[in-house]
Amino acid sequence: RAAVHRICSGQVVLDLATAVKELVENSLDAGATSVEIRLKEYGSVLIEVADNGCGVSPENYQGLTLKYHTSKISEFADLQTLSSFGFRGEALSSLCALSDVSVTTRTKEEPVGARLTYDHSGALISQERVARAIGTTVAVSKLFSPLPVRYKEFNRNIRREYGRLLSILQAYALIAKGVRIVCTNQVGKSGRTTIVQTQGSGSVKDNIITVFGSKTATCLEPLDLLVSDGCRVEGFVSRPGAGCGRASGDRQFVYVNGRPVDLPKINKLLNELYGSFNSLQKPMAVLNFILAPTAYDVNVTPDKRKVFLHTEGALLVALREVLENVYTPEKY
Ligand code: ADP
Ligand code: MG
Repeated sequence: RAAVHRICSGQVVLDLATAVKELVENSLDAGATSVEIRLKEYGSVLIEVADNGCGVSPENYQGLTLKYHTSKISEFADLQTLSSFGFRGEALSSLCALSDVSVTTRTKEEPVGARLTYDHSGALISQERVARAIGTTVAVSKLFSPLPVRYKEFNRNIRREYGRLLSILQAYALIAKGVRIVCTNQVGKSGRTTIVQTQGSGSVKDNIITVFGSKTATCLEPLDLLVSDGCRVEGFVSRPGAGCGRASGDRQFVYVNGRPVDLPKINKLLNELYGSFNSLQKPMAVLNFILAPTAYDVNVTPDKRKVFLHTEGALLVALREVLENVYTPEKY
Protein backbone atom coordinates (compact mmCIF):
# COMPACT_ATOMS: atom_id res chain seq x y z
CA ARG A 1 0.00 0.00 0.00
CA ALA A 2 2.85 2.39 0.76
CA ALA A 3 4.24 1.76 -2.71
CA VAL A 4 0.88 2.40 -4.36
CA HIS A 5 0.51 5.63 -2.40
CA ARG A 6 3.98 6.70 -3.53
CA ILE A 7 3.13 6.08 -7.17
CA CYS A 8 -0.26 7.84 -6.99
CA SER A 9 1.31 10.78 -5.17
CA GLY A 10 3.47 11.28 -8.21
CA GLN A 11 0.35 12.33 -10.09
CA VAL A 12 -0.35 15.27 -7.78
CA VAL A 13 3.26 16.23 -7.29
CA LEU A 14 4.63 15.65 -10.76
CA ASP A 15 7.78 17.67 -10.41
CA LEU A 16 9.46 20.49 -8.53
CA ALA A 17 7.11 23.08 -9.99
CA THR A 18 3.92 21.34 -8.85
CA ALA A 19 5.37 20.74 -5.38
CA VAL A 20 6.02 24.45 -4.92
CA LYS A 21 2.74 25.39 -6.59
CA GLU A 22 0.76 23.29 -4.10
CA LEU A 23 2.57 24.88 -1.14
CA VAL A 24 2.09 28.42 -2.44
CA GLU A 25 -1.59 27.73 -3.10
CA ASN A 26 -1.98 26.53 0.49
CA SER A 27 -0.42 29.75 1.75
CA LEU A 28 -2.73 31.84 -0.42
CA ASP A 29 -5.73 29.77 0.71
CA ALA A 30 -4.67 30.47 4.31
CA GLY A 31 -5.10 34.19 3.63
CA ALA A 32 -1.39 35.03 3.73
CA THR A 33 -0.24 38.51 2.69
CA SER A 34 3.37 37.37 2.62
CA VAL A 35 4.73 34.16 1.13
CA GLU A 36 8.43 33.40 1.14
CA ILE A 37 9.81 30.51 -0.86
CA ARG A 38 13.35 29.52 0.06
CA LEU A 39 15.15 26.96 -2.09
CA LYS A 40 18.44 25.21 -1.49
CA GLU A 41 20.23 23.89 -4.57
CA TYR A 42 17.33 24.83 -6.88
CA GLY A 43 14.91 22.99 -4.58
CA SER A 44 16.59 19.60 -4.84
CA VAL A 45 17.89 19.75 -1.25
CA LEU A 46 15.22 21.87 0.41
CA ILE A 47 12.02 23.73 -0.41
CA GLU A 48 10.67 25.91 2.34
CA VAL A 49 7.48 27.93 2.05
CA ALA A 50 6.79 30.33 4.92
CA ASP A 51 3.61 32.39 5.21
CA ASN A 52 1.79 34.69 7.60
CA GLY A 53 -1.58 33.04 7.01
CA CYS A 54 -4.07 31.66 9.54
CA GLY A 55 -1.90 28.76 10.72
CA VAL A 56 -2.97 25.21 11.52
CA SER A 57 -4.89 24.59 14.74
CA PRO A 58 -3.78 21.75 17.06
CA GLU A 59 -6.76 19.50 16.29
CA ASN A 60 -5.54 19.42 12.69
CA TYR A 61 -1.88 18.56 13.38
CA GLN A 62 -2.42 14.87 12.72
CA GLY A 63 -5.01 15.08 9.94
CA LEU A 64 -3.13 17.68 7.90
CA THR A 65 -1.09 15.15 5.95
CA LEU A 66 -3.68 12.42 5.60
CA LYS A 67 -5.03 11.65 2.18
CA TYR A 68 -8.29 13.46 1.34
CA HIS A 69 -8.02 15.53 4.49
CA THR A 70 -9.01 19.07 3.63
CA SER A 71 -10.49 21.91 5.61
CA LYS A 72 -11.69 23.63 2.47
CA ILE A 73 -14.68 21.72 1.25
CA SER A 74 -17.61 20.49 3.26
CA GLU A 75 -20.14 19.40 0.71
CA PHE A 76 -19.81 18.16 -2.83
CA ALA A 77 -21.95 21.08 -4.00
CA ASP A 78 -19.18 23.41 -2.82
CA LEU A 79 -17.06 22.38 -5.79
CA GLN A 80 -19.32 24.50 -7.98
CA THR A 81 -18.72 27.67 -6.04
CA LEU A 82 -15.25 26.99 -4.75
CA SER A 83 -12.93 29.94 -4.43
CA SER A 84 -9.93 28.26 -2.80
CA PHE A 85 -7.08 26.72 -4.81
CA GLY A 86 -7.10 23.45 -2.89
CA PHE A 87 -10.05 21.17 -2.33
CA ARG A 88 -8.86 17.59 -2.50
CA GLY A 89 -6.54 17.26 0.44
CA GLU A 90 -3.90 15.44 -1.58
CA ALA A 91 -0.92 17.76 -1.71
CA LEU A 92 0.55 17.41 1.77
CA SER A 93 -0.18 13.71 1.86
CA SER A 94 1.61 13.29 -1.48
CA LEU A 95 4.56 15.42 -0.39
CA CYS A 96 4.96 13.27 2.73
CA ALA A 97 5.09 10.15 0.60
CA LEU A 98 7.71 11.71 -1.68
CA SER A 99 9.98 13.61 0.72
CA ASP A 100 10.76 14.49 4.36
CA VAL A 101 8.15 16.98 5.52
CA SER A 102 8.08 19.21 8.56
CA VAL A 103 5.61 21.94 9.43
CA THR A 104 6.03 24.85 11.81
CA THR A 105 2.81 26.65 12.55
CA ARG A 106 0.88 28.88 14.90
CA THR A 107 -2.67 30.22 14.89
CA LYS A 108 -3.74 33.42 16.60
CA GLU A 109 -5.34 31.32 19.36
CA GLU A 110 -2.04 29.64 20.30
CA PRO A 111 0.50 31.37 22.56
CA VAL A 112 3.44 29.53 20.94
CA GLY A 113 4.08 27.63 17.74
CA ALA A 114 4.58 23.93 17.10
CA ARG A 115 7.14 22.12 14.98
CA LEU A 116 5.69 18.94 13.51
CA THR A 117 7.42 16.19 11.58
CA TYR A 118 5.75 13.47 9.53
CA ASP A 119 6.82 10.12 8.13
CA HIS A 120 6.26 8.88 4.57
CA SER A 121 2.80 7.52 5.42
CA GLY A 122 1.78 10.99 6.63
CA ALA A 123 1.76 10.04 10.33
CA LEU A 124 2.81 12.70 12.82
CA ILE A 125 6.04 11.43 14.38
CA SER A 126 7.18 14.33 16.50
CA GLN A 127 5.84 17.54 17.92
CA GLU A 128 7.63 20.25 19.87
CA ARG A 129 6.89 23.78 21.01
CA VAL A 130 8.80 26.51 19.21
CA ALA A 131 8.70 30.27 18.89
CA ARG A 132 6.78 31.28 15.78
CA ALA A 133 4.81 34.29 14.58
CA ILE A 134 1.30 33.51 13.34
CA GLY A 135 1.50 31.55 10.12
CA THR A 136 2.91 28.35 8.68
CA THR A 137 6.21 27.13 7.29
CA VAL A 138 6.26 23.88 5.36
CA ALA A 139 9.71 22.39 4.70
CA VAL A 140 10.11 19.69 2.07
CA SER A 141 13.54 18.13 1.90
CA LYS A 142 14.98 15.65 -0.55
CA LEU A 143 11.97 15.62 -2.85
CA PHE A 144 11.51 12.24 -4.61
CA SER A 145 14.20 10.50 -2.52
CA PRO A 146 11.81 7.61 -1.62
CA LEU A 147 11.68 6.84 -5.37
CA PRO A 148 15.36 6.22 -6.23
CA VAL A 149 15.01 6.20 -10.02
CA ARG A 150 12.82 9.30 -10.07
CA TYR A 151 15.19 10.97 -7.59
CA LYS A 152 18.20 10.41 -9.84
CA GLU A 153 16.38 11.70 -12.89
CA PHE A 154 15.12 14.70 -10.88
CA ASN A 155 18.63 15.68 -9.86
CA ARG A 156 19.95 15.17 -13.35
CA ASN A 157 17.28 17.48 -14.81
CA ILE A 158 17.24 19.97 -11.97
CA ARG A 159 17.90 23.00 -14.19
CA ARG A 160 14.92 22.22 -16.38
CA GLU A 161 12.75 21.51 -13.33
CA TYR A 162 13.90 24.83 -11.91
CA GLY A 163 12.94 26.63 -15.12
CA ARG A 164 9.38 25.32 -14.90
CA LEU A 165 9.24 26.27 -11.23
CA LEU A 166 10.28 29.79 -12.08
CA SER A 167 7.53 30.24 -14.64
CA ILE A 168 4.84 28.83 -12.31
CA LEU A 169 5.99 31.14 -9.52
CA GLN A 170 5.90 34.07 -11.92
CA ALA A 171 2.32 33.12 -12.79
CA TYR A 172 1.23 33.34 -9.14
CA ALA A 173 3.32 36.44 -8.43
CA LEU A 174 1.73 38.34 -11.33
CA ILE A 175 -1.88 37.63 -10.40
CA ALA A 176 -1.73 37.75 -6.59
CA LYS A 177 -3.01 41.12 -5.41
CA GLY A 178 -1.94 42.38 -2.01
CA VAL A 179 0.43 39.47 -1.44
CA ARG A 180 4.15 39.92 -1.13
CA ILE A 181 5.83 36.94 -2.80
CA VAL A 182 9.57 36.41 -2.60
CA CYS A 183 11.51 33.42 -3.84
CA THR A 184 15.20 32.93 -3.16
CA ASN A 185 17.65 30.22 -4.08
CA GLN A 186 20.89 29.29 -2.36
CA VAL A 187 23.54 27.35 -4.22
CA GLY A 188 26.59 25.99 -2.43
CA LYS A 189 28.00 28.29 0.18
CA SER A 190 27.28 31.42 -1.81
CA GLY A 191 24.57 33.83 -0.74
CA ARG A 192 20.90 33.72 -1.63
CA THR A 193 19.74 35.02 -4.97
CA THR A 194 16.27 36.48 -5.29
CA ILE A 195 14.58 34.99 -8.32
CA VAL A 196 11.00 36.27 -8.09
CA GLN A 197 9.75 39.20 -6.08
CA THR A 198 6.58 41.21 -5.70
CA GLN A 199 5.77 43.97 -3.24
CA GLY A 200 2.21 43.02 -2.39
CA SER A 201 0.69 45.78 -4.49
CA GLY A 202 -2.95 45.89 -5.46
CA SER A 203 -2.47 45.73 -9.22
CA VAL A 204 -1.31 43.26 -11.82
CA LYS A 205 0.49 46.09 -13.60
CA ASP A 206 2.65 46.75 -10.53
CA ASN A 207 3.34 43.03 -10.23
CA ILE A 208 4.49 42.93 -13.86
CA ILE A 209 6.85 45.81 -13.12
CA THR A 210 8.38 44.14 -10.06
CA VAL A 211 8.66 40.71 -11.71
CA PHE A 212 9.78 41.72 -15.22
CA GLY A 213 10.83 45.37 -14.97
CA SER A 214 9.26 48.61 -16.13
CA LYS A 215 10.66 48.38 -19.65
CA THR A 216 8.64 45.22 -20.24
CA ALA A 217 5.56 46.82 -18.75
CA THR A 218 5.64 49.76 -21.17
CA CYS A 219 5.38 47.33 -24.09
CA LEU A 220 2.07 45.96 -22.91
CA GLU A 221 -1.40 46.93 -24.01
CA PRO A 222 -4.03 46.67 -21.26
CA LEU A 223 -7.18 44.70 -22.04
CA ASP A 224 -10.47 44.66 -20.20
CA LEU A 225 -13.22 43.40 -22.40
CA LEU A 226 -16.42 41.48 -22.47
CA VAL A 227 -15.55 38.50 -24.65
CA SER A 228 -18.95 36.92 -24.67
CA ASP A 229 -22.02 36.60 -22.50
CA GLY A 230 -20.72 35.76 -19.04
CA CYS A 231 -17.03 35.95 -19.92
CA ARG A 232 -14.72 38.89 -19.42
CA VAL A 233 -11.02 38.96 -20.07
CA GLU A 234 -8.66 41.35 -18.36
CA GLY A 235 -4.93 41.65 -18.54
CA PHE A 236 -2.13 42.66 -20.86
CA VAL A 237 -0.68 41.64 -24.21
CA SER A 238 2.49 42.77 -25.99
CA ARG A 239 2.09 45.43 -28.58
CA PRO A 240 3.45 44.35 -31.94
CA GLY A 241 5.98 47.22 -31.89
CA ALA A 242 9.72 46.72 -32.08
CA GLY A 243 11.33 45.12 -29.05
CA CYS A 244 8.03 44.17 -27.45
CA GLY A 245 7.84 40.52 -28.38
CA ARG A 246 9.89 37.59 -27.15
CA ALA A 247 11.86 34.96 -28.99
CA SER A 248 9.99 32.27 -27.08
CA GLY A 249 6.49 32.02 -25.66
CA ASP A 250 7.78 31.70 -22.11
CA ARG A 251 5.93 34.76 -20.88
CA GLN A 252 2.35 33.86 -21.59
CA PHE A 253 0.25 33.53 -18.45
CA VAL A 254 -3.36 32.42 -18.68
CA TYR A 255 -5.77 32.31 -15.75
CA VAL A 256 -9.36 31.40 -15.12
CA ASN A 257 -10.74 33.45 -12.22
CA GLY A 258 -7.20 34.05 -10.99
CA ARG A 259 -6.17 30.40 -11.14
CA PRO A 260 -3.16 29.78 -13.41
CA VAL A 261 -4.14 27.21 -16.04
CA ASP A 262 -2.89 25.58 -19.21
CA LEU A 263 -5.04 26.49 -22.20
CA PRO A 264 -2.76 25.80 -25.16
CA LYS A 265 -5.34 26.97 -27.70
CA ILE A 266 -5.13 30.47 -26.23
CA ASN A 267 -1.34 30.48 -26.64
CA LYS A 268 -1.73 29.28 -30.20
CA LEU A 269 -4.21 32.05 -30.98
CA LEU A 270 -1.96 34.71 -29.44
CA ASN A 271 1.07 33.52 -31.39
CA GLU A 272 -0.88 33.35 -34.63
CA LEU A 273 -2.30 36.87 -34.42
CA TYR A 274 0.94 38.41 -33.20
CA GLY A 275 2.80 36.47 -35.86
CA SER A 276 1.10 38.39 -38.65
CA PHE A 277 3.04 41.46 -37.47
CA ASN A 278 6.19 39.85 -36.29
CA SER A 279 6.73 36.30 -37.42
CA LEU A 280 9.97 35.93 -35.46
CA GLN A 281 8.54 36.72 -32.07
CA LYS A 282 5.82 35.72 -29.67
CA PRO A 283 3.85 38.11 -27.51
CA MET A 284 3.95 38.29 -23.77
CA ALA A 285 0.48 37.95 -22.28
CA VAL A 286 -1.18 38.00 -18.90
CA LEU A 287 -4.82 37.09 -19.49
CA ASN A 288 -7.35 36.42 -16.75
CA PHE A 289 -10.69 35.03 -17.90
CA ILE A 290 -13.49 35.88 -15.52
CA LEU A 291 -16.09 33.16 -15.88
CA ALA A 292 -19.11 31.97 -13.93
CA PRO A 293 -18.07 29.03 -11.70
CA THR A 294 -20.47 26.79 -13.61
CA ALA A 295 -18.80 27.58 -16.95
CA TYR A 296 -15.70 25.50 -16.34
CA ASP A 297 -14.32 22.53 -14.47
CA VAL A 298 -10.90 22.46 -12.81
CA ASN A 299 -11.29 19.00 -11.37
CA VAL A 300 -9.90 17.34 -14.51
CA THR A 301 -6.29 16.49 -13.69
CA PRO A 302 -4.70 15.96 -10.26
CA ASP A 303 -2.49 19.02 -10.58
CA LYS A 304 -5.52 21.17 -11.55
CA ARG A 305 -3.61 22.95 -14.32
CA LYS A 306 -5.91 21.66 -17.00
CA VAL A 307 -9.36 23.16 -17.08
CA PHE A 308 -12.37 22.24 -19.11
CA LEU A 309 -14.25 25.24 -20.45
CA HIS A 310 -17.78 24.30 -21.36
CA THR A 311 -17.88 26.80 -24.23
CA GLU A 312 -14.23 26.90 -25.29
CA GLY A 313 -15.04 27.05 -29.01
CA ALA A 314 -17.27 30.09 -28.73
CA LEU A 315 -14.82 31.76 -26.37
CA LEU A 316 -11.93 31.32 -28.81
CA VAL A 317 -13.95 32.83 -31.65
CA ALA A 318 -14.87 35.83 -29.49
CA LEU A 319 -11.33 36.24 -28.19
CA ARG A 320 -9.96 36.19 -31.72
CA GLU A 321 -12.16 39.15 -32.51
CA VAL A 322 -10.99 41.00 -29.40
CA LEU A 323 -7.33 40.39 -30.18
CA GLU A 324 -7.70 41.22 -33.86
CA ASN A 325 -8.90 44.57 -32.69
CA VAL A 326 -5.72 45.05 -30.63
CA TYR A 327 -3.57 43.86 -33.48
CA THR A 328 -5.03 46.03 -36.23
CA PRO A 329 -2.52 47.40 -38.74
CA GLU A 330 -3.90 50.96 -38.54
CA LYS A 331 -2.87 51.18 -34.94
CA TYR A 332 0.82 50.72 -35.61
P1 ADP B 1 -6.14 21.06 0.22
O1 ADP B 1 -5.37 22.30 -0.07
O2 ADP B 1 -6.72 20.43 -1.02
O3 ADP B 1 -7.15 21.23 1.34
P2 ADP B 1 -3.59 20.04 1.16
O4 ADP B 1 -3.06 18.66 1.29
O5 ADP B 1 -2.88 20.97 0.24
O6 ADP B 1 -5.11 19.93 0.75
O7 ADP B 1 -3.64 20.67 2.62
C1 ADP B 1 -4.35 19.98 3.64
C2 ADP B 1 -4.86 20.93 4.70
O8 ADP B 1 -3.77 21.44 5.45
C3 ADP B 1 -5.58 22.15 4.15
O9 ADP B 1 -6.95 21.89 3.91
C4 ADP B 1 -5.37 23.18 5.27
O10 ADP B 1 -6.35 23.00 6.28
C5 ADP B 1 -4.03 22.77 5.87
N1 ADP B 1 -2.92 23.62 5.39
C6 ADP B 1 -1.98 23.28 4.47
N2 ADP B 1 -1.09 24.28 4.27
C7 ADP B 1 -1.47 25.29 5.07
C8 ADP B 1 -0.98 26.62 5.34
N3 ADP B 1 0.11 27.11 4.69
N4 ADP B 1 -1.62 27.38 6.26
C9 ADP B 1 -2.72 26.90 6.92
N5 ADP B 1 -3.24 25.66 6.71
C10 ADP B 1 -2.64 24.86 5.81
MG1 MG C 1 -3.62 22.46 -1.09
